[in-house]
Amino acid sequence: MTTITATTTTTTTAEPRSPENHAAELEHRIARDPGSFRVLTGDRPTGSLHLGHYFGSLRNRVRLQDLGVDVIVLIPDYQVITDRDTAERLAEYTDGLLLDYLALGIDPARSTVFCHSAVPALNQLMLPFLSLVSVAELNRNPTVKDEIAHSRQSTVSGLMLTYPVHQAADILSCKGNLVPVGRDQAPHLEVTRTIARRFNERYGRVFPEPDILLSAAPLLLGTDGTKMSKSRANSVPLSATADETARLIKGATTDADRLITYDPGARPNVSSLVLLAALCLDRDPHEVAAEIGDGGAAALKRTVTDAVNTHLAPFRARRAEYAKDLTYVRSVLRAGNERANALAEATLDEVREAMGAFR
Ligand code: ATP
Ligand code: MG
Repeated sequence: MTTITATTTTTTTAEPRSPENHAAELEHRIARDPGSFRVLTGDRPTGSLHLGHYFGSLRNRVRLQDLGVDVIVLIPDYQVITDRDTAERLAEYTDGLLLDYLALGIDPARSTVFCHSAVPALNQLMLPFLSLVSVAELNRNPTVKDEIAHSRQSTVSGLMLTYPVHQAADILSCKGNLVPVGRDQAPHLEVTRTIARRFNERYGRVFPEPDILLSAAPLLLGTDGTKMSKSRANSVPLSATADETARLIKGATTDADRLITYDPGARPNVSSLVLLAALCLDRDPHEVAAEIGDGGAAALKRTVTDAVNTHLAPFRARRAEYAKDLTYVRSVLRAGNERANALAEATLDEVREAMGAFR
């Protein structure tokens, strides 16, 4: 049996690709043959989904589903305890995610939603996958470092350090080959690709090397100017009321320059707000900024608030309808868990077969 050492792992790691450059070619392949793609992506049940999720990943999921791609959405409940001691309000947050997915247009007849803890075969993939990455590689993952900095725990758990490997198990358990996510997930996708490649090299080809799919808003900022995040009290939830939305956007950090411009490098906070309005209005961000002109932050925030509330109004109405029938909403997850189990068990069988000695 070969042992992976730090040296061999380095030589088998490919250079990270530029996801932006890759996007056009990928979109072309998807349009040509949507049936050859399977999406796996998801959201932790740690709070309410927000505008960063919507423009970073959710909108792409619905678009891909409607193009004919097999879309699988994971609610990674085990990953809640990567950065906190216990999983609080898990059932409530899970219901909330299901409501959001359905209201946004995830169609259970075509797409699948499932939970980590309901799929034991997926979790078994962790052991062979952990053997394919080095501790040094895990230690230098920039997103994990950032999440450790924002964690509620004083020490770094083994789960925190290894959760990109768990994400590899998520994606590869159903042989997902397309992963629409925000930019924070790019280093994790590289871990998944590395694991797939090393597994295939060592045991024979079982896994695809999945592609990342970034949106036009791969890193939407929150009201405090850092990544919008459920855990940082800086988000605008999709399910907020119009008044709550106005209050949250009013509190967003901007800068002192009254002239509104779109310049993400020099003015990240103002530009993230301009981009938000532009995405809701389906317009060019430079044009939106020029129209606000020297109206200052107050005019910018009014534009953003109106755009967000108008754009989300139909979603919010549908969500309220689904909330009246939680029995149906939860049945969507049960059916999804069944399909995810079948897929993960089939993959685990192939993994055991490829590895030889395991039964
Ligand atoms: P938490 O604070 O609990 O980690 P989160 O807001 O970071 O929550 P996740 O569940 O970790 O959300 O992420 C779900 C998906 O949404 C991922 O694909 C992630 O890249 C994407 N995403 C999250 N926040 C943003 C954002 N601000 N901009 C773009 N995409 C985002
Ligand atoms: Mg996160």
